[in-house]
Amino acid sequence: MVTINSIKRGIVIDHIEAGQGVKIFNYLGLDKADFTVALIKNATSKKHGKKDIIKIENVIDFDLTVLGLIDSNITINIIEEEVIIEKIKPELPKRVEDIIKCKNPRCVTSVERDIVHRFVLVDRKKGQYRCEYCDEIYHFLEV
Ligand SMILES: [Zn+2]
Repeated sequence: MVTINSIKRGIVIDHIEAGQGVKIFNYLGLDKADFTVALIKNATSKKHGKKDIIKIENVIDFDLTVLGLIDSNITINIIEEEVIIEKIKPELPKRVEDIIKCKNPRCVTSVERDIVHRFVLVDRKKGQYRCEYCDEIYHFLEV
């Protein structure tokens, strides 16, 4: 594992809950990256004790919605010429379509293949979503 102290141009995902970094790393496909990436686990955080950090020496496209679902407390820093030019805080989206699937075997989405999986945010604090078809409640931060 390589630690990059400064990035010339790329993305630093900071304030990831300790232990969640691997999920984001894998979701972004960084295990297969051919550019420099670093997953730093259990870094000391002034605010929260321990945190994970991901450094990416490249500009990549990613879905903020999904990152918000994995961990809504993260900060995404966009770096250019070794300076942070933008800080993004992902928010839990009010509606989620076709990102996560309902696991209820009796749900219509489990039976019909061509249906769009739709979820509505019911509790922002807890990160809870409700399936629009069967009313199952999901807590995506644990998925
Ligand atoms: Zn459902």
